[in-house]
Amino acid sequence: MSVTHAPHTADVLTRQDPELAEILLGELHRQSSTLQLIAAENFCSPAVLAALGSPLANKYAEGYPGARHHGGCEIVDVAERLAVERAQSLFGAEHANVQSHSGSSAVLAAYAALLRPGDTVLALGLPYGGHLTHGSPANFSGRWFDFVPYGVDAETGLIDHDQVRALARTHRPKAIVCGSIAYPRHIDYAFFREVADEVGAYLIADAAHPIGLVAGGAAPSPVPYADVVCATTHKVLRGPRGGMILCGAELAERVDRAVFPFTQGGAQMHTIAAKAVAFGEAATPAFTDYAHQVVANARVLAATLADEGLVVTTGGTDTHLVTADPAPLGADGRTARGRLAAAGMVLDCCALPHADSRGLRLGTAAVTTQGMAEKEMMRIAALLAGVVRGEVESVGAREEVRDLVGGFPPYPA
Ligand SMILES: *Cc1c(COP(=O)(O)O)cnc(C)c1O
Repeated sequence: MSVTHAPHTADVLTRQDPELAEILLGELHRQSSTLQLIAAENFCSPAVLAALGSPLANKYAEGYPGARHHGGCEIVDVAERLAVERAQSLFGAEHANVQSHSGSSAVLAAYAALLRPGDTVLALGLPYGGHLTHGSPANFSGRWFDFVPYGVDAETGLIDHDQVRALARTHRPKAIVCGSIAYPRHIDYAFFREVADEVGAYLIADAAHPIGLVAGGAAPSPVPYADVVCATTHKVLRGPRGGMILCGAELAERVDRAVFPFTQGGAQMHTIAAKAVAFGEAATPAFTDYAHQVVANARVLAATLADEGLVVTTGGTDTHLVTADPAPLGADGRTARGRLAAAGMVLDCCALPHADSRGLRLGTAAVTTQGMAEKEMMRIAALLAGVVRGEVESVGAREEVRDLVGGFPPYPA
């Protein structure tokens, strides 16, 4: 008997709902014929997709293994225990909660576990790469908590440690959040722990981006330092779209209750099974190689973009992530992103610490999964610069992108 897998699913859909099947195939074509440079994206494996498309999607499972509010959970309980054990072992954490539906849900639960509405929280300001859940007025976080933002040095682009310490002493926050959607360097978790201890604050690491590098030993782990680590499972970690929380044994019960029943209902067992698959993959030597290649690729991408004249934030990267100002090439971030999109190069804009105009944010997680290495990064950076300068016509660039990605299919037939 075969568990559901992508081609089988596609067959069923093609017969029953050709209209929707057409959309899925169109997206598969888009993903494999353009360059995926969005820093938060990746290509999860066929095994992860198989778990996501499995009948575990049918199961209601409120609660936790051995303590569910529904009957018939004896098999999905095994899946969740496996996911938890694999996460704990992969990250050396005393406790893992794998039920968060997304990175944002994980952060919400972390706040719910440790804070009360109105509490003061110190976090990287949104203009410097803080996430919406780090105090945006458009998000629950900005509405329910009193966020004090810290920033980065305008010259170096590095987190301003002196400012963090001074703000912590002045505002005595209940929690300090470290983590970002755009910071290309390692975060000094020991420093944040020291400041948190000095002012009696909890330390929450929102490691949504680098957690995959941590799994592969290519970035320092926040687990020994933070009271609670929030993460996504779908970025560099290459699992299904979802979140997770890691913490010490003493906070385990509070974190679990903050996820269910405080902020979520039934667990998504197909996603949890897919997380287990991804944690299993991330524990292999192949994934360690992958994580290091992701960083090597990002370093070459950053260096080549700098050679081409872009201003690379912090002068380079330690991670999968590069942010850069294309202004010297004659375009702001928004204009550049439009030109690049027409050429089939998909990436994001981001705020820049040193400029009012927006910059570009790119990542190497997806292209590295496809098998691209340093040589391809140089080709991508040169092509990107040519397109932004307006030297390469978008039709010609689109051809070159097609030629490049044609050699690296994300899902080989
Ligand atoms: C991606 C990200 C999130 C949110 O994850 P979602 O799954 O999109 O909700 C939260 N915090 C940080 C730092 C992120 O990078």
